[in-house]
Amino acid sequence: MTAVDAVEIRKAPEPKVDPEGAILRIEACGICGTDARTFFNGDPKAPAPWILGHEPVGVLEEVGRDALLPPGVRKGDRVFLGSILTCGRCHWCMDGYQNLCDEHLLYGYDPFPGAYAEYAAVPPIAMKNLIPLPPDLPSDLATVADPFACALNGIEVLDIRIGDTVVIIGSGPIGCWQAVMARDCGAGKVFLTDVNRQRLDIALGAVGAFVDDAWVAAADNGVAQALEHTGGKGPERIIVAAPSKQAQQAALEMAAKRARVVYFAGLPKHDPVSPLDMNQLHYKELSILGAYGATHRQYRLTMDYLERRRDELAAVVTHRFPLEKIGEAFETIRSGSGLKMVVIP
Ligand SMILES: [Zn+2]
Ligand SMILES: [Zn+2]
Repeated sequence: MTAVDAVEIRKAPEPKVDPEGAILRIEACGICGTDARTFFNGDPKAPAPWILGHEPVGVLEEVGRDALLPPGVRKGDRVFLGSILTCGRCHWCMDGYQNLCDEHLLYGYDPFPGAYAEYAAVPPIAMKNLIPLPPDLPSDLATVADPFACALNGIEVLDIRIGDTVVIIGSGPIGCWQAVMARDCGAGKVFLTDVNRQRLDIALGAVGAFVDDAWVAAADNGVAQALEHTGGKGPERIIVAAPSKQAQQAALEMAAKRARVVYFAGLPKHDPVSPLDMNQLHYKELSILGAYGATHRQYRLTMDYLERRRDELAAVVTHRFPLEKIGEAFETIRSGSGLKMVVIP
């Protein structure tokens, strides 16, 4: 990225190995909504010219002489790098909630350049985030471990019981994976909604087999259909995987009494205050919960999950681009004609 909304392929100096870090030879790196937002709107944490890319899979080409590798990881292994960099010492890290680390930073953002490149440095703070890959899991699919682990965190917070009706609002890659996970958790019915017909159709092409029905959220944000599909009672579990105030409010309106609602997607940082009908919460005894990022435990679980459900999950990776065509990848995201994209250097 050479400026906001401008990209160029340049010959960059080879990254140097930190004595406590390592070098990855990148095999694949995912593009996520955060990258797209940064590219289209700019971000002070990505000062141009800047190399983005925070969902890398690569081979550990070089390891610093004082570096500590996580158990089961050796030089020459194929690994995934989890993007949430944590201090490892604060209360939340010690409790296993690395996603809530008091001092957490993100790989791919200042001061750590990312992995839309042939080689990328692993800074010392990221060494504990290296996760070994199952030998048969292809690198392009393994790049989704980062958003996939976050989707898993949302589903764990949602706490689905066998037979629950689940509504997922937002049919991007996260919503798609959560539909698969909801099914695996024993949901009775899984419904998917989105404001965008095209996105919903692409999602159903990928994970339609896991979904009982889907609808485009119209003027009432999809509340009427949710009630219709549940005999007027409303769903017991709702997850909002779309950064939308209307979707947050719709979730409260469609919720069954005593339902659990998870706000997975954040709102834009400059506009985070949402007017919500709190009487829905009070009179229906709702639980509203948040979910953010993923823990190290969830990253590890993810590798297993990806391996087990490889064929179904591969359908969510709709586009692969060589590094030279990364500009085209961002255009495809802008046009909304795909789900998950991966860059292959
Ligand atoms: Zn991401
Ligand atoms: Zn911490």
